[in-house]
Amino acid sequence: MTDSNKHACASLENLYRIFTVPEAPDSTLMQLDDAISDNMIGFLQQHIVAEETDLLEIEKDFTNTDIPEEPVFVSEQTEFLLEKVVAQSVHTASPSFIGHMTSALPYFMIPLSKIMIALNQNLVKTETSKAFTPLERQVLGMMHRLIYQSGEEFYQRWLHDSHQHLGAFCSGGTVANITALWAARNRAFGADGEFRGIAQEGVFKAFKHYGVDGAAILVSKRGHYSLSKAVDVLGIGREYIVAVDTDENNRIRPDLLQKKIDLLKKENVKPLAIVGIAGTTETGNVDPLDKLADIAEAEGIHFHVDAAWGGPAIFSRAHGKLLKGIERADSVTIDAHKQLYVPMGVGMVLFKDPAALNSIEHHAQYIIRQGSKDLGSNTLEGSRPGMAMLVHSGLNIIGRQGYELLVDQGIEKARLFADMIRQSDDFEVISEPELNILTYRWAPASVRRVLVDADPDVRKRANDILNKINRYVQKALREHGRSFVSRTRLTPKRYDQQLITVYRVVLANPLTTTEILVDVLEEQRQIVTDKALRKRMNQLQELLGKNAA
Ligand SMILES: *Cc1c(COP(=O)(O)O)cnc(C)c1O
Repeated sequence: MTDSNKHACASLENLYRIFTVPEAPDSTLMQLDDAISDNMIGFLQQHIVAEETDLLEIEKDFTNTDIPEEPVFVSEQTEFLLEKVVAQSVHTASPSFIGHMTSALPYFMIPLSKIMIALNQNLVKTETSKAFTPLERQVLGMMHRLIYQSGEEFYQRWLHDSHQHLGAFCSGGTVANITALWAARNRAFGADGEFRGIAQEGVFKAFKHYGVDGAAILVSKRGHYSLSKAVDVLGIGREYIVAVDTDENNRIRPDLLQKKIDLLKKENVKPLAIVGIAGTTETGNVDPLDKLADIAEAEGIHFHVDAAWGGPAIFSRAHGKLLKGIERADSVTIDAHKQLYVPMGVGMVLFKDPAALNSIEHHAQYIIRQGSKDLGSNTLEGSRPGMAMLVHSGLNIIGRQGYELLVDQGIEKARLFADMIRQSDDFEVISEPELNILTYRWAPASVRRVLVDADPDVRKRANDILNKINRYVQKALREHGRSFVSRTRLTPKRYDQQLITVYRVVLANPLTTTEILVDVLEEQRQIVTDKALRKRMNQLQELLGKNAA
């Protein structure tokens, strides 16, 4: 890099310079941009998933806690970032990185996101965001319409109304879920006669006024852990996340949900919200939303749908019907940084009733004044970036048809992979893909046949050994493999609800090919023959040999 790139800030003159945008064409900014772009393209084009570097090893580059007295040059810092951070980060864009919900981005997000950074708008209030505010409201309207289909008149009336909100932007699904349950809580324990509402007087007085001994949120046992953060911060208590059992396909059992509600009422605990999941994080299954809506309606309980992952399935004419009933939800969470393919840091919560968010409204004199269009009055977060700009870009550039294709090809690929696993002799599908997520494990057909008829104790011991083998395989693949799948533990009915270690595959990257999937299984087969597993294999054989028919 040339000397003009070597700004350090030890003088006032240099300080001024780093706050001044350099002039094109052969400016510092452009050179820096080019150097970074070249490096990034190199990184993004590499399709390997893991470098064999231990995190403890990497930590050694990040041990100094001294803030430097003598500043470093921009060029030095850039080199440090490229060498020590970029080169040792994860190839989430790789088509063989198929273990997590974080995946590749469409290329245009990278240059467009520079607009957001360069303008540095703050969506907390219109005085610092101007056009970004109506843009954000427009995107909320687009997503609201996708879910609720409320008709042109409705949107013309409420889209830009300063007293109504079709939803809220936030940093992700966690804050979206918290926001939804926050509104549900405040509405369930609203002002009533002398009582000025839970938002004003707190949980203790609210329970006293309403004569209840607690409040609960009901969700299937596959619910995301963000819900337990929500009840914690909302002062309801983690014990009051009531986990309802699922059917063999990881979907909530409405009959058991009803039983839990009845039980809570008997215990004088108010059911605050029912949460349906549209795409569970571990298995991608969708709860029977229509049935949940029926129960919520009959009971007069807030119905929230956590569609952080699966929401965009609505774009698909073929698969959108899986989410039937979502249009009856009081609130819906959608993560844009998952299946809308927008960079990390943006989620949304949509509300059917545009007045619902008024229950969490806050005002301040210098900012977010009453009656203003400042978005900060109805969001959990304060200062927020203009991420809506990137969601808007995705919705326009990819479009409904593009998102439909993305959804459809992901689901087809997941089904294809499930078929490949079934046809193989040595792997077992644990959860069938409903969306583009599936789980499976290494368990040869010969072992499975014995497991079926073995007595429960032998089955349990054999599964314990299989768990250890599968854990080893997943870790080895992560450390040395060309691909990456994640790992979780499920409690399948067929194994008496025993905790079973499984590989989890998320097929979100459109560039993931069948060859890559074939390759994953092949790599795992190779790992199974590792010397390190020999003892476990012998244990398995001994146990099952003795107990085989
Ligand atoms: C990812 C996810 C969340 C949390 O979203 P973050 O963006 O990670 O905060 C919540 N619920 C479900 C179902 C998810 O998949």
